[in-house]
Amino acid sequence: MKRKPIIAANWKMHMTPQETDEFLRSFNRLLGSRDVVDVVIAPPFVSLAAAADATRPSENIAIAAQNMSPEPAGAFTGEISARMIKELDCDYVILGHSERRTLFGETDDYIQRKVSAALDARIKPILCVGETLEERDANKLEEVLERQLRAGMKDVNRSRADDLVIAYEPVWAIGTGRTASAEQAQEAHAFIRKVLTELYDAEVAGQICIQYGGSVKPANIAELISQEDVDGALVGGASLEVDSFFGIIKGAEEHVRDTTA
Ligand code: PEP
Repeated sequence: MKRKPIIAANWKMHMTPQETDEFLRSFNRLLGSRDVVDVVIAPPFVSLAAAADATRPSENIAIAAQNMSPEPAGAFTGEISARMIKELDCDYVILGHSERRTLFGETDDYIQRKVSAALDARIKPILCVGETLEERDANKLEEVLERQLRAGMKDVNRSRADDLVIAYEPVWAIGTGRTASAEQAQEAHAFIRKVLTELYDAEVAGQICIQYGGSVKPANIAELISQEDVDGALVGGASLEVDSFFGIIKGAEEHVRDTTA
């Protein structure tokens, strides 16, 4: 089998603590004790504690923050540190999401500092990379992915590299209903794995999970995840309804079962 898939829900600025509790209690009942794929939920900061409470004692759902500061502590009004999210049971943190890059001006260097701070706190970064439509049309896909990866992983040594998850999210497919075709996704994922091989080696690159993100839904997960280098999904809109998020998990599971049968 290739890498164990990770299906992650990025709830963005949706879900109050109470809504988080309600969602996760029904979702948990549906999920039961299955563990063919790893499931990660990334609620807003204020709902992290509710998410941890609602998923405990289940070991099937991990919690992620959607962002964090690279700074350990101090006069940074409105910011949240790695230690703070760790104390709220976060095993993962999404870093470098395209909305953080474009709406909040986060640079590759700034994201790289967050990656290091997360790893130091024993939190696994989900490092998002991906090109805009203009960059794709200008044949800059590989240049952009390589720049984002090399910058984001600059201070990550070989022994820590497999704690990272990479999410390939073509910006033009996020929240637009447009999904990259399975071939486009595979091409980008294979390129990402090639860069990881150059940065580390084939063994490490072969262990790193590369998720696809961009309008993933129950209807397209099977085709995406059947690609050799696609190891799961980072899901926005379709993760906000219990049934559709569960449908994505079931789709991924069926693929894993088919390939291991
Ligand atoms: C995302 O924001 O990470 C994302 C992939 O969103 P959507 O699934 O809505 O395209």
